[in-house]
Amino acid sequence: MRNIARFVVDTHSHISTLYQPKGAFSENIRKEGKWNGMIGEVAAYDNSALALYDMDRFGVDMAVLLPSMCGTYNEKQVEIMKKHPDRFRACCSDQLTMTKAMKGEIQGWNLQMSLDEIEAALKTENYVGIGEFVPGLNLYRYGYYPAPEFEKRVEEWDAFCELAIKYDVPVHFHEYIMFYRLPKTLWNHIKLLETVAGRHPKAKIVFNHGYKDPDLDVPDLIESMRDVYAMVSSYPNIYMETGGWCEKNFEVAFDSGVSARNLMWGHDYGNVPQYMFRKNILDRRIDGKIGLMTDPRVWEYRKVDAQFGSQYKGVPTIPTYQPNFYAWGMRTVDRVGDWLTQDEIDLIMGGTAARLYKLPVPFPRMFAEGRPDIFGENWQHDWYPFIPDEQITNPEGFRIPIERKYFDDSFSEG
Ligand SMILES: [Zn+2]
Repeated sequence: MRNIARFVVDTHSHISTLYQPKGAFSENIRKEGKWNGMIGEVAAYDNSALALYDMDRFGVDMAVLLPSMCGTYNEKQVEIMKKHPDRFRACCSDQLTMTKAMKGEIQGWNLQMSLDEIEAALKTENYVGIGEFVPGLNLYRYGYYPAPEFEKRVEEWDAFCELAIKYDVPVHFHEYIMFYRLPKTLWNHIKLLETVAGRHPKAKIVFNHGYKDPDLDVPDLIESMRDVYAMVSSYPNIYMETGGWCEKNFEVAFDSGVSARNLMWGHDYGNVPQYMFRKNILDRRIDGKIGLMTDPRVWEYRKVDAQFGSQYKGVPTIPTYQPNFYAWGMRTVDRVGDWLTQDEIDLIMGGTAARLYKLPVPFPRMFAEGRPDIFGENWQHDWYPFIPDEQITNPEGFRIPIERKYFDDSFSEG
């Protein structure tokens, strides 16, 4: 079988629910036919059978499971991981605290309650990261608690980053929303990302979806993409997900100095409430406004995009089938493979994730090293060996030594 890369990791997977509302919340969908989304609680479901079928079918070695909506509890991710420890890893968030706060079971929620839940989870060593959403975000954006000012949110991020550094795990950054009828951002999310990354150079931050869809309130979508990717490229501690990217995202990112060492492949795999749409398929949003799929500028550079069905007339919120994000995402990478090197594709498709999430990889020498064009000037100090020995299932007991000239400061003087 021919695969796209040596080791493939889906870094953004949701397979612990089919998004069916749970308990009293299911009344909304039964009586009114309305899905209650984040603000209810979805029933847990182990969707790993179809996930594993797809992973085997498309050559995906491992997937990182992210809790997200209410009801996709941390423990459910671990339960699935423990059934298939060679295929899955799990991230954690304040799932229980958030759900209780939304249901009114916790009065006077504060950030510390959420931080305590995350820290208790990290202490179990069952989790490899924090996310998909960090505390507060959903409580603020659905109006349960007032959203803090920018500076206060930066301070809240100080706490998230401190936890991430203490337990040496990445933290996911998803400070924007794609649902209709809600403000897209509560803060300038790009400025927030830059501020947080600058304040915490030791924190590894995963920018979810990697700005796959530029903010629509900018005059020029591509220029905005260029500005954001240029900013990201100047912070080595920001990682981006590329799973839903189109060719233009890859093109602009690499033109702007982004490196494959910071890119990972993953995009909302699972029975998520998203479909893959193409141009001119959707008339308009439910609220009649221009949305991503109805903004003609998007179709100047994109041919297909994944979007939430809830925003558009005539589309059921929850797909009754599971859209095939793996095949779609891999075909995009195939197309940019015309100009990206295979070394870079191997990093994007799995190497970067293997290093970031400390995943077991079968052999040494599987990923690029010694390429200053990918790893920068300090590659020999910061990036060699790319995968530490303890992560390698079949180590060789030695490393090919680096040529002396690279450690000799006088070399460049002749
Ligand atoms: Zn997600």
